[in-house]
Amino acid sequence: MVVGDFAEERDTMIVGAGPGGYVAAIRAAELGQKVTVVEKEYVGGVCLNVGCIPSKALISAGHRLQEVKDSKIFGIKNIQDPVLDFKTTQDWKDHQVVDRLTGGVKMLLKKHKVEVVEGEAYMHDNHTLRVMNGDHTGQTYKFKHLIIATGSRPVEIPGFKFNGRVVDSTGGLNLPEVPKELVVIGGGYIGSELAGAYANLGAHVTILEGTPQILPNFEKDMVKLVLKSFKDKGVTVVTNAMAKNSEQDDNGVTVTYEVDGKEQSVRADYCMVTVGRRPNTDDMGLEYTDVKLTDRGLIEVDQQGRTAAQDIFAIGDIVAGPALAHKAFAEGKVAAGAISGKKTANDYVSVPAVCFTDPELATVGMTKAEAEKAGLSVTTSKFPFAGNGRAISLNSMEGFFRLVSTKDEGTIVGAQIAGPGASDLISELSVAVNGSMNVEDLALTIHPHPTLGEVVQEAADVAMGYPTHI
Ligand SMILES: Cc1cc2nc3c(=O)[nH]c(=O)nc-3n(C[C@H](O)[C@H](O)[C@H](O)COP(=O)(O)OP(=O)(O)OC[C@H]3O[C@@H](n4cnc5c(N)ncnc54)[C@H](O)[C@@H]3O)c2cc1C
Repeated sequence: MVVGDFAEERDTMIVGAGPGGYVAAIRAAELGQKVTVVEKEYVGGVCLNVGCIPSKALISAGHRLQEVKDSKIFGIKNIQDPVLDFKTTQDWKDHQVVDRLTGGVKMLLKKHKVEVVEGEAYMHDNHTLRVMNGDHTGQTYKFKHLIIATGSRPVEIPGFKFNGRVVDSTGGLNLPEVPKELVVIGGGYIGSELAGAYANLGAHVTILEGTPQILPNFEKDMVKLVLKSFKDKGVTVVTNAMAKNSEQDDNGVTVTYEVDGKEQSVRADYCMVTVGRRPNTDDMGLEYTDVKLTDRGLIEVDQQGRTAAQDIFAIGDIVAGPALAHKAFAEGKVAAGAISGKKTANDYVSVPAVCFTDPELATVGMTKAEAEKAGLSVTTSKFPFAGNGRAISLNSMEGFFRLVSTKDEGTIVGAQIAGPGASDLISELSVAVNGSMNVEDLALTIHPHPTLGEVVQEAADVAMGYPTHI
């Protein structure tokens, strides 16, 4: 603590107002706590400002453009070449989507009487932190409980310093124009989603992926469909490609990479690097507390999110597990409950993961391989969207739905979807996995017709041995 600086006392403090932090703040306030949130950059965190939400806005814009172009099949004629005004797209994304949502979160925090302190928090000990403002003034706080929710930031790789035409995902979301040529380094879900969005918006995209497969967290038969659609869009996917260097000039950037020992290069207007994210746990004084870090910089926590320091909790991207907003939401509620004396615990059995590519991919629970590795005897049942009336009437028939269930009881342990509406359909399966429902439960649940959701009931019928529409 600085000499002459009087510490202010607080009950529950939260560092970071992203999905983890702001949800924890609201829940803690609902449970009767007096809450103070410290945020250094933007309420809403990465997700609302430079992540989930703006990326989905650009993806939607790309889809709209493609829908207009592809509407001839519906008998819509004389469509002149649609022209995209990307500045309007970006204005809409920034002001009507992002500002609206972040404004809503600010209002919710105010409604719950959560104090929001602007500045960067540094830990001093297990019950003290100091918030520094941009003007180098600061304030020290003593707290009873603390939730750390500082999130993550993009990883930079040698030869690709984020600057000018070499951008991270944040820069990629805020390009001033749709590039004619875009190189994306890293074909994980962030890279693949934005590659698809820019391809739909009119860019020629090259993805350089270091491993043998893009989207390594999804099964091969799902990824195959994304690769097909990338091919249809003219996206070039180079796997086993090690990015080496980038050289910028006034007109573009040349990216050098190596495949099978051979050096190659590609020229582009922009190069977006999406090779992973690093937890924001360095540089914040955690060494002055009892909080323990893994060798990857993640904070070690128990089932409630409690760290090795009794009164400090950690949630979201800075703890183990998938770096996803809905996981951060859930952990925020559990930590807020724990501080309020509730018997809460995180349960990761049914954390869904969605990739907003074309087609959308979504998974929950275990794949067949994962279930077998866990010693379960399982079977899969599949239903194609080509057999679904709604998918046909949407002219969107690519893909499938798959259930993974145990052979003995038919208990649903996982599901995978590649196809239209996968991002929404997966929630029903999260309920099924979370509730240990069996295939009969799904088969006997009447689903509305004609809807995409009928694929769930149809696959359950397949599992029961009584398929109807296949
Ligand atoms: C392009 C992109 C697309 C994504 N799409 C999806 C998606 O579709 N679905 C999904 O579930 N997830 C998605 N994610 C991931 C998602 O954004 C994160 O998992 C989520 O934001 C994590 O929430 P968090 O609360 O842990 O941290 P963050 O959202 O990172 O928030 C942390 C906050 O803490 C603040 N902070 C950090 N250090 C300090 C400090 N010392 N003092 C004060 N404040 C501090 C930061 O300014 C930030 O506002 C996407 C991410 C990106 C980059």
